[in-house]
Amino acid sequence: MPLIIKDEYPEKLFREDGKRLDGRELNELRPIKMEVGVIKSADGSAYLEWGNNKVFAAVYGPREVHPHHLAKPDRGILRVFYRMATYSVFDRKRPAPGRREKEISMIVSDCLEPILFLELYPGTSFEIFIEVVDADGGTRCASTTVAALALADAGIPMKSLVSAIAVGKIDGKQVVDLSGIEDKAGDADLPIAITWYNEEISLLQFDGEMDLDEMTKFLDIAKDALSKIHQMQLVSLKSKYITLKEGEGEKKR
Ligand code: UDP
Repeated sequence: MPLIIKDEYPEKLFREDGKRLDGRELNELRPIKMEVGVIKSADGSAYLEWGNNKVFAAVYGPREVHPHHLAKPDRGILRVFYRMATYSVFDRKRPAPGRREKEISMIVSDCLEPILFLELYPGTSFEIFIEVVDADGGTRCASTTVAALALADAGIPMKSLVSAIAVGKIDGKQVVDLSGIEDKAGDADLPIAITWYNEEISLLQFDGEMDLDEMTKFLDIAKDALSKIHQMQLVSLKSKYITLKEGEGEKKR
């Protein structure tokens, strides 16, 4: 596969028929597939394919905190470890976690912490390990979405799920769910996450240029896309239990 470097980005991000380079309409999501209970050694787990992104999340907890000095006497702690595999992108990624992975681990944790009842678990930790094995733009949103599913699969009490999506601007037009090339060669990128129990935004990052009116429109189109993702999360959680009830599949955990 070719190495994608900045100079080789396409001049236009729309085809002659007005569709995006991957054939999508402006407000069309990439194909999304979700499954829970995919890792038998974890307390809860989930797998997400989102376009060319492939992401696993494994949850452990509540359990003893290591190292012990991180434990808090009055509440549990949430630790998130986002990792992008060396082979997940065209240009080999350094195996050691870099600043970007630490930043994404932190923002995913910030998105998920409000939905947990950490005050009920003093002295313990919940850990979420996120492994991106194939990356093509929007992995922080995919990671947040799949990590919320893995928490639910672990049976951990939660106020609601969290869903995330990146909206943005390419060649001057507003689009949802930026692919890797749209993220890199586009004009603006706005990852957003929502906590459903209070419908509050728990992540809002921004890279690029836009005015306030555009920002308001972005939030509207993001909300529509986020609702679709939320529905898919609920269906994937329910489908595990329907399968088990009907005895059609082996128990996965
Ligand atoms: N990417 C890459 N090498 C890296 C980091 C990222 O090729 O070391 C690609 C990857 O496809 C990623 C995209 O760039 O999804 C956009 O990265 P960004 O940091 O904007 O985060 P993301 O959009 O994945 O949340």
